[in-house]
Amino acid sequence: MLVQLQDEFLGCYSVKPVDARHGDGEFFQTDTDFPALARSWGWRGKIGRERCDHRKTDGTVDCPDCGVRAWQFIDAAGTYLDGQVGRVRRI
Ligand SMILES: [Zn+2]
Repeated sequence: MLVQLQDEFLGCYSVKPVDARHGDGEFFQTDTDFPALARSWGWRGKIGRERCDHRKTDGTVDCPDCGVRAWQFIDAAGTYLDGQVGRVRRI
């Protein structure tokens, strides 16, 4: 099934089937959902070109290795998602 990433009001996102017969899709409004959502669209879990690969965090808690804060991951994930809006992928 093909799904498309769409931006919604108030900084939310949705992932909707391209063919509406497949349902309404999923709505993402909690910012702690953004890291996982961004990963599903190809984000590598980094906020920039830092060396740490943050293996001990999923992006919703601070990285214990380098100290990058959860809000920085969430912010980076949101920025990544903004750049992916409109993309279609197969799930
Ligand atoms: Zn780290």
